Amino acid sequence: MKSFIEPFKIKAIEEIPITTRQEREEYLKKANFNPFSLRSEHITIDLLTDSGTTAMSSKQWAAIMDGDESYAGSRNWFEFEETIRDITGFKHIIPTHQGRAAEKILFSVIGGVGKIIPNNTHFDTTRGNLEFSGAIAIDLPSAEGKDPALRADFKGNIDLIGLEKLIQEKGKENIPIAMITITNNSGGGQPVSMENIRKAKELLNKYDIPLYLDSCRFAENAYFIKQREKGYENKTIKEIAREMFSYADGATMSSKKDGLSNTGGYIATNDDKVAEKAKTILIVTEGFITYGGLARRDLAALSQGFREVLNENYLEYRVGQVRYLGDLLLEAGVPILEPTGGHGVYLDAKRFAPHISPEFFPGQAISCEIYLEGGVRACEIGSVMFGSYDENGQFNPALMELVRLAIPRRVYTKSHIEFIAESIINVYKRRESLRPMKITWQAEFLRHFTAKFDYV
Ligand SMILES: *Cc1c(COP(=O)(O)O)cnc(C)c1O
Repeated sequence: MKSFIEPFKIKAIEEIPITTRQEREEYLKKANFNPFSLRSEHITIDLLTDSGTTAMSSKQWAAIMDGDESYAGSRNWFEFEETIRDITGFKHIIPTHQGRAAEKILFSVIGGVGKIIPNNTHFDTTRGNLEFSGAIAIDLPSAEGKDPALRADFKGNIDLIGLEKLIQEKGKENIPIAMITITNNSGGGQPVSMENIRKAKELLNKYDIPLYLDSCRFAENAYFIKQREKGYENKTIKEIAREMFSYADGATMSSKKDGLSNTGGYIATNDDKVAEKAKTILIVTEGFITYGGLARRDLAALSQGFREVLNENYLEYRVGQVRYLGDLLLEAGVPILEPTGGHGVYLDAKRFAPHISPEFFPGQAISCEIYLEGGVRACEIGSVMFGSYDENGQFNPALMELVRLAIPRRVYTKSHIEFIAESIINVYKRRESLRPMKITWQAEFLRHFTAKFDYV
């Protein structure tokens, strides 16, 4: 069969708002032309993020009803611990309420002033927590990962030569761990190869530096390995995941992604000393070690979610749906970051609206117009997020001007995807009419969340 289907049928539905163009113009104006400030009841299709927006299965909802809310020693905890240990093989599993809580605790233990922690690309909360501890975050993406138009299988790989150079320059005693993010979120959800993880581990072993995986999208990464890396065609997703984790000494996780749930996370480690300190901080900040800031019923939904995410039919649909949106856009000539990654499609705003210079936020103009066209919410990842002016008033643009269309897991159908594509293609057809934008108000940090805009 050539066509793909959603490998599930729908048991409960949630109505989505359908609005008129005139209403959307009003809503967007009220939101000061910042989609972050829109109310969700005014959005038809929400592609702001794939984090915590998953639709849970009937088995997960059933597990929630069957939750055991004991403060300590809940059976939901033991099931969760067993499920995660079965997938990862790690000795200690420490639950948290989401990914950044895992990061905060881990870096409180191993970070601190003078420490340096490399990664293929640190996610923004990872970098934030690391810098908050006083440590320095270093990004070492491979050369392929920096070119948006280049098609390659594993654009998420870490630069191994750069990694060894960093260790020799800064000294192994200053690098408590190295990290690899699978898939590489900030680089467009691009996968990391098994070979790259294995070689990173071999290199780090020479210097006695532990390797930790930021494993939010481990199952999507494993699926790409199965599809693209020689020798893995006939392995199960679980076998591939086990091998990836076998090269690591620990991991952080946001279960809001491949845990197929709306909240949750964990730290995993083989290091007894790290685990002991982390558990002490956990009790002070998150909760007892058998629930870590979660309701026990959440742990029950997570155990089921972690089993479901290993299902290859699901992953084929998941990655296929993202690719389908990318292909519809490419057929119409819409410029996107290639190849499409695991969790979303990224429009290349520089090629989409070349008449708007980065200083006037082409990605923001496109995001606004996509909302006006179809009620679809996307997220600018360009100079609104990363651009700045230096002391001489010179504008420093972001490296790339992108618009991210993140696809929530199991939420939208093929016809929704076609509707999204049509909205974007319609905007692309009248791209010359897109207008430059300016910021009229901004916060001191992370301005993209709350900034106010207007047309120039
Ligand atoms: C989402 C994410 C995090 C942070 O997790 P939260 O659950 O949002 O706190 C860390 N790393 C990566 C790669 C992520 O995608």
